[in-house]
Amino acid sequence: MEIVILAVVIAVVVLGAISGLVVSGRKKKQLPPSPPAAPVTPSAPVTPSVTAPPAEPQVGEEAEAPSDESRRTIEDTPLPVAEAPEAEAPVAEPAAPPAPEIEVPEPTAGRLVRLRARLSRSQNSLGKGLLTLLSREHLDEDTWEEIEETLLTADVGVAPTQELVERLRERVKVLGTRTPADLRTLLREELLALIGTDTDRSVHTANGVGNGGDEIPGVVMVVGVNGTGKTTTTGKLARVLVADGKSVVLGAADTFRAAAADQLQTWGERVGARTVRGPEGGDPASIAFDAVKEGIAESADVVLIDTAGRLHTKTGLMDELGKVKRVVEKHGPLGEVLLVLDATTGQNGLVQARVFAEVVDITGVVLTKLDGTAKGGIIVAVQRELGVPVKLVGLGEGADDLAPFEPEAFVDALIGD
Ligand code: GDP
Repeated sequence: MEIVILAVVIAVVVLGAISGLVVSGRKKKQLPPSPPAAPVTPSAPVTPSVTAPPAEPQVGEEAEAPSDESRRTIEDTPLPVAEAPEAEAPVAEPAAPPAPEIEVPEPTAGRLVRLRARLSRSQNSLGKGLLTLLSREHLDEDTWEEIEETLLTADVGVAPTQELVERLRERVKVLGTRTPADLRTLLREELLALIGTDTDRSVHTANGVGNGGDEIPGVVMVVGVNGTGKTTTTGKLARVLVADGKSVVLGAADTFRAAAADQLQTWGERVGARTVRGPEGGDPASIAFDAVKEGIAESADVVLIDTAGRLHTKTGLMDELGKVKRVVEKHGPLGEVLLVLDATTGQNGLVQARVFAEVVDITGVVLTKLDGTAKGGIIVAVQRELGVPVKLVGLGEGADDLAPFEPEAFVDALIGD
């Protein structure tokens, strides 16, 4: 009985507790509502008096004196001593949209002379080495062999080396006494004769006559194995032309190398030249065609077309470059086909030159990276190999390190003044 009474008591207590909880929970839910929020009207106009900054004083209008409150705030704020303006701070101009900065490239005249130090540094062993050997008291067979070796090491090539040694032997014999000045003059003359001084080394960028009879821009196609500095050279050449006052359109037809078009466009933007480009892996010929079309539309002076130089198979290369050339010639004649060769690759470069010459008619050579090799003799060898002149030389990675090739300045850098 007692147990039954105890159970009833516990049940009553538990029931009481549960009902209390429920009541308190309901109470929480029945909290008095907060005052109604202002209706949100997104389209309602923002009240100018609240959000707009104070209007600027107009001319002839007295500027409103700052309130005591704001004056106190400003005066109480300690100024950083170093930055305290001495005079009244100028009113900031409204920020202009950032215009792409167009560079003014260095003038091309005399660039090789400016870059001579680099040439003489890299070609020291050729020019100075020859002079030292020729100045020996006894010009015996060993010395002549050393002279020959020096020329071969500098990549002058076998036949030109033999010719030069022959000429030097003859002239030294005739000379009798050999003063350093005599030897210098003699060597200078013979090296210049080997390189050639009466060749036209200008890059042909003059306007042509289009197939429709209208004037069209000069078109230059830049070819060469990837890695030789082809795209860099195209960009530098654009600068050379801009420096000479010409307007340029670039055609990014090297669609094989992913970054080539971006690289070229960056070069172009620096001098304000537009770049025509297509999708990665797209058809190089159609880009080349569009680039010339753009050049005609813009009445540009020159269109430079960068191409891909995959030496996977000669047929592949021939197909690609041949097509680019044919398609460009639908507009009109090509002014120039420049072959870019890396001077540091020596004999390998000559092999490349031979292959390209079979595929397209090369009209000029650009020898890059001449700053990083003592093998300047490649100039002689490649001209002999192709029968076309070296027109430009690359002497560094700087934007204006491409120079028109001037034989006199080159030889003077080799043997010193
Ligand atoms: P591409 O694949 O033939 O188009 O080669 P790039 O134009 O990309 O050049 C390959 C590398 O050669 C880059 O790092 C260039 O900066 C560098 N280069 C190009 N010309 C010269 C030059 O005359 N001297 C030196 N030192 N580097 C060069």
